[in-house]
Amino acid sequence: MTTTTVKKALVLGGSRGIGAAIVRRLAKEGMHVTFTYAASREPARALAEEVGGEAIQVDSGDCAAVSSMIDRLDALDVLVVNAGILGAGDPLVMDPNEIDRLFRININTPYHAAVAAARIMSEGGRIIFIGSTNADRTPMAGLAAYGASKAALKGMAKGLARDFGDRGITVNVVQPGPTDTDMNPGDGELKDLMHSFMAIKRHAKGSEVAAMVAWLIGIEAAMVTGAALTIDGGFSA
Ligand code: NDP
Repeated sequence: MTTTTVKKALVLGGSRGIGAAIVRRLAKEGMHVTFTYAASREPARALAEEVGGEAIQVDSGDCAAVSSMIDRLDALDVLVVNAGILGAGDPLVMDPNEIDRLFRININTPYHAAVAAARIMSEGGRIIFIGSTNADRTPMAGLAAYGASKAALKGMAKGLARDFGDRGITVNVVQPGPTDTDMNPGDGELKDLMHSFMAIKRHAKGSEVAAMVAWLIGIEAAMVTGAALTIDGGFSA
């Protein structure tokens, strides 16, 4: 930001997991936080009440609906695109429609949402995509589409950083490794395999990922743009 006061943040996919941790952290930083969700109506309602924010049901699989929702906001300082789906499996048998939906949620909507947000964003705004360490290292089978979608965010951030840089808007990717959420429970059956790839052998907490997001929106990160910041306990080291 050009000032230390940030007013309005939008988190796509904020009802659970890493997104909910980001919502809480941004609210703690003094922002008014609007967030979207797809299915978790009650957790979203409770979180909105907890942080004094607003929850809106919009499916990130519907790019046009997300863009329209952003168009209806009057102003924005921070956009965090967290909503993402995993979709792991044998590419020879996976439903191509499901792969296309993954690409819509993980690639198309982040792009269109970032562009819509930039239209209404104040000078010095912040756009952050939640990517994955799997953009850089995919040591297990079945993650080609997911890894590709997260790698796409890196190219997107680099390009949009140049497109919006003249307004001081930064565009970055935060790349978590295994993080304890419904998508990847810290006590799940793959935990030992995942930890074997890591230097620090535990799942991260959502709040640890949220802390990196909080740093990126601060004044000290004004010159960090087009970057991918990895927080993966050494998974990709
Ligand atoms: P969860 O599945 O635990 O939570 C996903 C959140 O995104 C929920 O709030 C969910 O809403 C929302 N969401 C999912 N699909 C949609 C959709 N179509 N439209 C709107 N909102 C949607 O995931 P995580 O918290 O684990 O992951 C968050 C992000 O971090 C993802 O982009 C993921 O790829 C990435 N990531 C996660 C890692 C991990 O180990 N957990 C590692 C690396 C990256 P609802 O509650 O309504 O379903």
